[in-house]
Amino acid sequence: MPIYDYRCENCGKFEIKQRITEDPLASCPTCGGKVERLIGKNIGIVFKGSGFYTTDTRMAKDRARQINQERQKDNQALLDGDIKSYVEQAEKTDINIKEA
Ligand SMILES: [Zn+2]
Repeated sequence: MPIYDYRCENCGKFEIKQRITEDPLASCPTCGGKVERLIGKNIGIVFKGSGFYTTDTRMAKDRARQINQERQKDNQALLDGDIKSYVEQAEKTDINIKEA
């Protein structure tokens, strides 16, 4: 069972074991005064996935940059008035996007 830190307006700081599913205390078990739950050092929420998230973000950025480059080629082909080239490039881009 995790230990939660509370601060009572009368008694000051105290710790109490609670099930994680229990509602936070609203009043002090000693004096009945108003309490607030502090951010507990014993609450073990660890974001183990942060490294992966960073990697995913970087990959997504690279992917977005790549797609942008493909889109620029599309636009350039269209500006050049080369419809056949544009269609070919657009088809290639669509295939690339599906592979992502
Ligand atoms: Zn109290």
